[in-house]
Amino acid sequence: MARIAVIGAGMGAMATAARLRVAGHQVTVYERGTTYGGAVGRYERDGFAFDTGPGLLHLPAVYRDLFVKTGKRPLEDCVDMVQLDPAVRHVLDGAAVTLPGASRGGVATALDETFGAGAGERWNALLGRARDTWDATRRPLLEEPLRPDWQVLGRDPYPALRGSGLLRRRPPTLAEIARRELGGGLGELLAGRVLAYGLDPDATPAAAAALPYMEQTFGSWYVRGGMRELATAVYERCRERRVEFVFGADVRSVLTRDGRAAGVRLADGTEAAADQVVCGIDPRQLPGASVPRPRGGVPARGGEAPGRLTLLLALSGARPADAVHRTLVHSPGTAGVRLVTVLRPDDPATRPDADHEAVTVSAVCGPAGGAPVPDPEKLLDLAARAVPGLRERLLWQEVRTPEDVEAATGACGGSVPAPALPGDGGRMLYPANTTALPGLYLAGGWAHPGGGLAHAGMTGALVAGLIVEGAEFRGSQ
Ligand SMILES: Cc1cc2nc3c(=O)[nH]c(=O)nc-3n(C[C@H](O)[C@H](O)[C@H](O)COP(=O)(O)OP(=O)(O)OC[C@H]3O[C@@H](n4cnc5c(N)ncnc54)[C@H](O)[C@@H]3O)c2cc1C
Repeated sequence: MARIAVIGAGMGAMATAARLRVAGHQVTVYERGTTYGGAVGRYERDGFAFDTGPGLLHLPAVYRDLFVKTGKRPLEDCVDMVQLDPAVRHVLDGAAVTLPGASRGGVATALDETFGAGAGERWNALLGRARDTWDATRRPLLEEPLRPDWQVLGRDPYPALRGSGLLRRRPPTLAEIARRELGGGLGELLAGRVLAYGLDPDATPAAAAALPYMEQTFGSWYVRGGMRELATAVYERCRERRVEFVFGADVRSVLTRDGRAAGVRLADGTEAAADQVVCGIDPRQLPGASVPRPRGGVPARGGEAPGRLTLLLALSGARPADAVHRTLVHSPGTAGVRLVTVLRPDDPATRPDADHEAVTVSAVCGPAGGAPVPDPEKLLDLAARAVPGLRERLLWQEVRTPEDVEAATGACGGSVPAPALPGDGGRMLYPANTTALPGLYLAGGWAHPGGGLAHAGMTGALVAGLIVEGAEFRGSQ
C-alpha cells in the first residue's frame, strides 16, 4: 500500500482518489478551499439555487464507469440524471431552431424546416465526418495515456471534402468547414457549439466538430438538484472508500527526495510525506522547480484559455412549460460577445416555488488577461432573446466573473480548460499524466485529455491506471 497525496479536490482529482483507494492505496486529498468540487459550485439565495460552473454533462459514461469501479451503487442510484430533450435551441438573427435530443432524423427535420431542404442532410453529413474523426482518435486521445509519439495526434484527422478547396497545405479550421460545408446560419450553429467550449472557431482545427458529434450522439445530461449533486456524489464515494480530505490545505510545492516526488509542502510550512503525488490543479500554480516540464515536452496549455462571465438570474413568474433547458443565442456581429448560453432547468430544487424561475446566462470571455470581460447588460440583452420578458421578470442578479472562477479553482486568470483536440500539430493537446519527475502525476482539466467534466473525469482512470499498473498501462479496455 502506497501513501498518495492528491493536490486539490476538483472532479479529476477526486475521480483519481476514489480509484486509487479501491486499488488499496492510502489516499489523502489536500484542498486549499473549504469544500470539494472546484469549478462545480452552487450559489443559493432566497430559495433560488444556481450552478456556478458546468450546467451540463456530456459523456456520462465516464462517471458511470467511475461508480461501477469504485463501489456497489451505480451512478444512477446516487444522482438523478436527466437527458435533455430538446437538446438545445439555437437563436440566430432572424431564425430559431430547436433540436431534439439524440435523434439524427429529428435534427435533420428541424434543420430543413428552418434553413431549407437539404440543410439536415448537410449537417448530418458533416457530423458523419466528425464521427470518423471521433472513431479515429477516441482511444489515443481520450482513453489512453498520452503516447510518447504524441506528435501523431497533431495530424488533422478531419476528412476534408474533395473539391471543397480545402485540399491544401494548411488543414482547415472549424470556421472554414462551417462556412464551406454548411454555410450561413447553419455554419454559425456549428461554430457556436464549439465556441461554447471556449474554443475560437477561427483558430481551432476542424477536428473540433467531434464535440457537437459527441453531444448529438451521447446526449446532454442534467443532474436534478444541480450539477453540484454530481460533485457531492463523487465526494461521498471517496468518503465511503475512506479517502482522507484535508481542507484549508494550500499546497505550495511538491517535495522531492532521491529524484522522486516525496510529498507536499503546505503554505503554513507543514510537510506531508507521500510515495506518489497527484497534482489535480493547473501545474503552473506550483513553482516550476517542483513540477518539471512534462515528459515529451508537450507544452502546458491554458494561458490562452478563456474564462466565463456568468449571470445568475432570479426571475418572478413561472417557467413556461415549453421553455427549453439550453438555448444558445448567436450574435456573431456583437463585439466581445459572440455567443450566450442560457440555461433554464425544469427543476423545483432551483427555485423557491412554481411562481419563480432560476436562469443562468454565461458567455466565454478572455483570454485570461486579454480581452475585457463584457458588460453584463450586453449579456442580459442577448439572453432576453431566449427568455421573453426577461428584464421585467428580473428580481435580482448575481454576477460571477473570471476572478470568481480563479478563486474557486486556482486557475490562472479564471481560465477554463477546453477538451483536448487532435490536429494543428498538437497545439490543442495537454501535458501527459506522467511527468519527468518519477512519482508525480497530473490529473484534472489541465492534463491529458483536457478540461470539462467528462474529460477531467477520464484523467482519474488514466492516472490510477498509471500508478497501479505502471508505465506500461495502455488505457482501460
Ligand atoms: C464557469 C465554468 C463553466 C464551465 N462549464 C462547463 C460545461 O458546461 N461543461 C463541462 O464539461 N465543463 C465545464 N466547465 C469545466 C469543468 O467544470 C472542469 O473542467 C471540471 O470540473 C474539472 O475540474 P478539475 O478536475 O480540473 O478541477 P477544478 O475544478 O479546477 O478544481 C481544482 C481544485 O483544486 C483546488 N486547488 C487549487 N490550487 C490548490 C493548491 N495550491 N492547493 C490545494 N488545492 C488547490 C481548488 O480550490 C479546486 O477545489 C466549466 C467551468 C467553469 C469554471
